[in-house]
This record gives sequence, C-alpha cells and structure tokens, in this order.
Amino acid sequence: MKNSMMKSFTNSTCYILRKYVAPGLAVLTGRKRYTYYSEMKSVPALPHNQIEKMQQDKLQYFLSYAAEHVPFYNNLSDVLKVTENVDVLSFLKYFPIITKKTIHENMDQMVSRKYTIEELSLGYSGGSTGSLLKYYFDKALHEKSEAVLMRMFSWGGWSPADPVAMFWGGFHELRGRDQLSTRLKRFISGRFLMPAYTYNDEIIRQWLKIIEKYEIRYLYGYASVFYNISLFQKRTGVRLPKINAIFSTAETLLPHYRSTIENAFQCKVYNQYGSREVQGIACECEKGNMHINSDLVYPEFIPDNSGDNIHRLVVTSFLNFGMPFIRYDIGDYASPKEGLCGCGRGFPLMSMHIGRTNDHLRKPDGEIIYPSYFNKVMFGIDGVSLFQFRQKDFHNLQLRLVLHTDISVESRKLISNLETRIRRELDWDVALEVHEVDKIELPPSGKHRYVICELDYA
Ligand SMILES: [Zn+2]
Repeated sequence: MKNSMMKSFTNSTCYILRKYVAPGLAVLTGRKRYTYYSEMKSVPALPHNQIEKMQQDKLQYFLSYAAEHVPFYNNLSDVLKVTENVDVLSFLKYFPIITKKTIHENMDQMVSRKYTIEELSLGYSGGSTGSLLKYYFDKALHEKSEAVLMRMFSWGGWSPADPVAMFWGGFHELRGRDQLSTRLKRFISGRFLMPAYTYNDEIIRQWLKIIEKYEIRYLYGYASVFYNISLFQKRTGVRLPKINAIFSTAETLLPHYRSTIENAFQCKVYNQYGSREVQGIACECEKGNMHINSDLVYPEFIPDNSGDNIHRLVVTSFLNFGMPFIRYDIGDYASPKEGLCGCGRGFPLMSMHIGRTNDHLRKPDGEIIYPSYFNKVMFGIDGVSLFQFRQKDFHNLQLRLVLHTDISVESRKLISNLETRIRRELDWDVALEVHEVDKIELPPSGKHRYVICELDYA
C-alpha cells in the first residue's frame, strides 16, 4: 500500500515537472523542440489548400537554398535565375532523383556550404543486409524530429507530459547505465528507452514491470517487438498494462502484426512512416488513414514499370539544411490516395505498399515479387515464430524458420509443400531450401526483415 502510494506520488510529481518545468528547462538549455512543436501542431487543422500553398512555399525556399549553397546542385543556380517565373514544380524537375548510391558517391558535394563539417552531425541509416547510409545533418534537425514525433504522438491522444516507452534496437542509443543522471533525464523527458536489440521472455517481463510502475500509457517502436510481446502474452496469459495507443515505426506493420497487437493490448496501433534520414513522412490518424506530413516533405510518386498502381516514393524533406535530401528515392513503394480524411486534418493521404525495394525479389526475366506475397504464403501456417526468405540467386531461395516446439503435423506438411506452391503460383523455376534455426540474427539496425534479396541489382 505504502509502495503504491509512493509510486503514485512519484509519477504525479514527474508529470507536473514535465508539464510545467521541462518546457522552460528546454528553452534554457537551448532545446527548441517545444517551440517547433507549438509551431507545427496546429498545421493539420488548416484547410487543405492553405497547407498546399505552405508546402509549395517551403519547397521553393528549400530548392533555391540548395541551388545556391549545395555544390552538388550548383549548376542549377543559373536555371533558377532563368526560371524566376517558372513555377516551383517545374523547377523541381531540374533536380535529379538521388539514391543512397548517389549520396555515397557524392557525399562531400552534398553538404551545404553554409556549414562546416564540425557544425554537422553524422547519421547512419540501416540497410537491408547491414549496409549503412552515412549522411550529415544540422544540429537543429534533432529538435525538429522530436517535435515531429510529439505531433504524431498527439494524434493518438498523447500530451507532452505523458511518459512514453521507446523500444529501440541500436546499441548506441541504449548503452546508458541506469545511473541517477539517466533516471533524472528520463523522468524529465518522459522517454523510457527499452533496449530491444535482443530480448527474451525475462526481458519482456521487465519491460512490462517498468510500464506498470511508471504508469506509461503510450508505446513507440518496432512492430515486431509489440507483436512478440503479444505472442508472449498469449502464451503465458500474463496481464498486460493498460495502454492508450501504440505507435509502430521503422518496420513494416504487417496486417497480422496489427491485429495480434490490437487484440492483446486492446488499443489502436498507429502506423508511422519515415526513416532516420528523412523523418516524419506520414502517419496514421484515428480513422486509419496515412496522412502525408506535407508541411515537412514534398513526396513524388514515380510509376513503377510493373504496370500495377505501384509507385516508387521519392521525397524532398524540408528539415535538414546541413545536407538537403531532394528527390530522394527512399526505396519504398507507395501510392497517393484521392480525397480527404473524415478526421478533419487537411493533410493529403497515401497508401503504403508493404516492404522496401530491397525486400523485393526478382525473377530472371526481371519480374518483381512483392514481399507481401511471402507474408500471405506463411499466413495460416501455425507454429512458426519467425521466418525469413532470402533470395540467393535467380533460381534459389532460402527460408529460415524459427518454430515453436509444438508445431503440428499439418503445419509441417504445409511447409514441405511451400516450394511446389511458390513455383506454381509465381510460375518461377526456383528451388526452396528450408532451414530450421534457433534464431535469426538481426542486422545492425535491429529491425527484422522477413524478405531479403541478396541480388545486386540496384
Ligand atoms: Zn485522418
């Protein structure tokens, strides 16, 4: 009783500290996240055409900035003078579409001359098989990203004093020892970091205890982590804490992940889409629509040659002035969605296609196989804890399976029949090698990929 009173007192004190003291403290220490947040939180409520105008103004400013200050785009500053009367979208087309490879090969040329290298920070973004994109960003980006996150959380009912449990994979963010300064920091920030690079049942129990103890109602992190907590709950019958909203990020939110998580936690999962290098591209509202954060990015949907209504997503982000990402082919597929959402937010809509480009398999004739196919193939085979398809070459696939010990004979039969099924359904001369393994190693990013293409076709 005494303990629970103490817990409640501590949590309330921390709430008050976060609500009234933290914003002032942030201003004093030069952190601008609250200022950015108050600037951007009301934008979604603006009328659609006003948001569109704001987006075009930002795009104009950003492109002119890049043409003037970024060596990679120097040749475009003359175009800018000539095209003063040309609208911004026509000017945009002069900028080449860039990829991770372009950035890697032209790194020095892509940094703005307004900054010295010492004034910038170095960032890394994970690739599919552990390859990393290195990029620079200006100091303001971190605070802007925090504000973007706050706005996305607010769509799920969160308010700035509410604590959030953040499930992350990267070691570099997680190595803080639980010292007094760390604890103080997390009470003031309200961010409880949960190292999720590796975990087991015992660690899941610890996470749940922390969530319970600090009365955390909002969770943020990789979908697979929440999915695994849900499976753990199903297996053990453990009581889950009361959660108001779960924000899924960085990893594909597979349909059966979503339903399993929502059933276990009895709350809505909000999908968010962005990457380390381009933050806050889109997020889901309570109506289940993905809204493009068009005050932060300008997206282009480039038709893919598959003939379906599939587009490569190319984004221009307005956030990083140290190293602008302009017409960046992020490696994902998406499509614009007509109309506005009933939630009243003026941001346009899009739909995501499951998977990233580098998860897409290729047949010898160049036909692309979307990863969601493999999700469909595995759906319905009970007793599979984790799976991963890898394409080794045009005629060889490998499937790694982590199985539950009580897998049924029926499921085993379905697994042994997979090769025949894939060959038939995809009309593909391919061999499938199945390996039962104890675990599947995670890449340095900490995100599980269920389909990996090892062909070098980029
Ligand atoms: Zn909406």
